[in-house]
Amino acid sequence: MSKKQTKKLKRHTPLVVGNWKMNPESIGEAKKLFLEIRKSISRKTLQTYVAIAPPAVFLSELERLSPSQRVKLAAQDVFHEKTGPYTGEMSLSMFKSVGVSSVIVGHSERRALGDTDEDIQKSVEAVLKANLTAIVCVGEKIRDAQGHYFTVVETQVLSAIKGLSKSKVSQLIIAYEPIWAISKGDGKGKTATPEDAHEMKLFIQKILADFFGRKTVDKIRILYGGSVNSQNAEELFAVGQVDGFLVGGASLKPKEFISIINTVETYANT
Ligand code: PEP
Repeated sequence: MSKKQTKKLKRHTPLVVGNWKMNPESIGEAKKLFLEIRKSISRKTLQTYVAIAPPAVFLSELERLSPSQRVKLAAQDVFHEKTGPYTGEMSLSMFKSVGVSSVIVGHSERRALGDTDEDIQKSVEAVLKANLTAIVCVGEKIRDAQGHYFTVVETQVLSAIKGLSKSKVSQLIIAYEPIWAISKGDGKGKTATPEDAHEMKLFIQKILADFFGRKTVDKIRILYGGSVNSQNAEELFAVGQVDGFLVGGASLKPKEFISIINTVETYANT
């Protein structure tokens, strides 16, 4: 697909989010990594939003390194209650106080640790109520020949948006992250084909359109995540027509992550 053709299909300012998961091991390494990313982004006028979701313990130090918010900060998860006896949990006001503007909710690694659809729905509602952006992760464990994975994704989307009003949808982002495509940490797992990513984007948009109405759905970004790296980003973005990426393993390698951002940026600028 030529860049010209891609431009016609572009709808949102793209978003690339780096999910560092439980990495790196120290604040010193986190600062170094963050600064490398910030430095190469600061040199240009970007038409792509970039966010990093570091371990929560590093957020306040990293906020100081990005005063202009060229690199936005995201949280990897949140607890829906405002305050109280919830040992080990963190609230939205805590995240807001250290510069967080978006929150990943329902990541498959959190679901695997016990987060239920109900927990996720409560968190999405709380994030939007706090006027932050919710990046809701959905995705199937396996792709079966009968296509049951569509039902899995539909159930996850519908349960996450239950009770939400139209007025908040511009703060809602859905990240399609098939679990079988999430890497072991190096960003080099099995990736969905760009066609798979595109098909699922259309499917998710149909679910959202049926729920919120056709016009509203155009406000909601659909990201793809699962072994995105510098090699596959172009095709996934151009052919998959997603609105950006949620990047795990490759976001820990500044060159890889910058290359993904540059790829997305090339299309945004064409
Ligand atoms: C993720 O876990 O959100 C993810 C996309 O990881 P990776 O890019 O390493 O597959």
